[in-house]
Amino acid sequence: MNSLQALQKYFGYSAFRHQQEAIIQHILNGQDVMALMPTGGGKSLCYQLPAVLLNGLTIVISPLIALMKDQVDSLNVSGIPAAFLNSAQNPDEQRQLVEKLRNNQIRLLYLAPERLFGAENKLVPFLKTLNVVQIAIDEAHCISSWGHDFRPEYLMLAQLKTEFPNVPVIALTATADKLTQKDILEKLNLNKPKVFVSSFNRANITYRVIPKRNSFQQLVNFLNERKDESGIIYCLSRKSTEDLADDLKAAGFAAEAYNAGLSSEIKVRNQEAFLRDEVKIIVATIAFGMGINKSNVRYVVHIDLPKNIEGYYQETGRAGRDGLASEALLLYSPGDAGKLQHFARIEGNEAQSRIMLNKLNDMVRYCQLQSCRRQYLMNYFDEAFPPNCGSCDVCLTEFKRFDGTLIAQKALSAVARLNERFGINYVIDFLRGSKSEKIRDEHKQLKTYGIGADISKPDWQRYIRELLTMGYLQMGGDEYPIVKLTDQSAAVLKGLQKVEFIESETVEETHTHVQAP
Ligand code: ADP
Ligand code: ZN
Repeated sequence: MNSLQALQKYFGYSAFRHQQEAIIQHILNGQDVMALMPTGGGKSLCYQLPAVLLNGLTIVISPLIALMKDQVDSLNVSGIPAAFLNSAQNPDEQRQLVEKLRNNQIRLLYLAPERLFGAENKLVPFLKTLNVVQIAIDEAHCISSWGHDFRPEYLMLAQLKTEFPNVPVIALTATADKLTQKDILEKLNLNKPKVFVSSFNRANITYRVIPKRNSFQQLVNFLNERKDESGIIYCLSRKSTEDLADDLKAAGFAAEAYNAGLSSEIKVRNQEAFLRDEVKIIVATIAFGMGINKSNVRYVVHIDLPKNIEGYYQETGRAGRDGLASEALLLYSPGDAGKLQHFARIEGNEAQSRIMLNKLNDMVRYCQLQSCRRQYLMNYFDEAFPPNCGSCDVCLTEFKRFDGTLIAQKALSAVARLNERFGINYVIDFLRGSKSEKIRDEHKQLKTYGIGADISKPDWQRYIRELLTMGYLQMGGDEYPIVKLTDQSAAVLKGLQKVEFIESETVEETHTHVQAP
């Protein structure tokens, strides 16, 4: 049987998606692989299909028991013998499982990393007596402290390649961030790994950001129009998930809370009720969702600002796994940004704080965009994308634009005259001819000083932000953020490139700027 036949026979699909086929071929050739695919992209198949074709045992490392049970059940339904090891199994069940493993009757064995390399560590010697043909590491970003979901127990997986040097390893994640990728490869010690990056675009999801005002009312308005549909609402704190779920229930919605602080009994109950469509809305912290394979989630709402684009994108990616039109709505407030900045400053060491603040800054920029949000997201993950997706709020809104070439030239020449060494606020004060002592005397002598006095400070902030987004300016600097020119600036300064600005804002004017620590 070749892989396409196996795809049809065991999984009932007619064709491979993304790079599934190439990934599978590499595994079948015995090579290490790292596969990056968006949530819902079809990662599981990349190791499940080789597991069927190779006549041996595939070990699957996965962080969550709930996920394992789900996958094992659906594999067994498809006629693929799979099992998982967990602490709830009694000695009898364990004995049976060991027997089946010895007889090569199991194709996939799901394990949490701490089971594999736990205190007693009797498992690895046993597994070595079996015909292990593949090791799959799901949610591989959990090994990286740069990622958004670091799990210390994943660090033990560094031993895998020593214990099973000849077994191909496939690491899978939906986290595309470069730093995390590099970290995963290093920590896992993969042998000449081939890295597969699939497009992260989720064409069926519409992205929207609205200014957060009266969030409960805004939410109710949104939900009233989607009464029969399932969705996830993400909150920052555990307590607010419970309060909000209560308020929604009181308002007549079938909602339940989910957070890591609830008893496992309640968590399982709420999660299963959601999977069975008895509960339409789950109000959750980011603890909810990893590996939840519910295909008909129609919307994901972020009622609080996410900490970074990676997390946001993964959470919104839980909508529309069935490929049908779905929505991602984010309620943005500068106050939330301020709160998260504070957390980022006090969390971790200085280098970690700086990374967290930079990531938060990118998240805030996303909220303030006046250009295509999807393009921004794709560019964030180093993927090129045209500037008009037609299905984000920015692209769906007809903006009135005006010729802002002169404004752009003023801003760019100010940055040039200041030798690209000052921050946004200084550039603006300089443009506006501020009498402040903060403006150096030598700068007050320049011809450019005060050439933008006719434009208000908030407008200048908006224009500069847009110039940053359009790539005519960029942020730089190690100590503190400074504004610099780009390769595209010269064309504007020479009058070869016209620049257009949007006449009025969609998102409330904000003056948040995230400073480095
Ligand atoms: P991920 O782990 O990347 O988030 P999954 O492996 O759960 O995604 O797959 C998402 C959905 O896509 C699942 O319902 C899966 O059965 C389906 N799927 C995977 N591969 C294919 C394919 N080649 N054709 C059609 N559906 C697929
Ligand atoms: Zn768009």
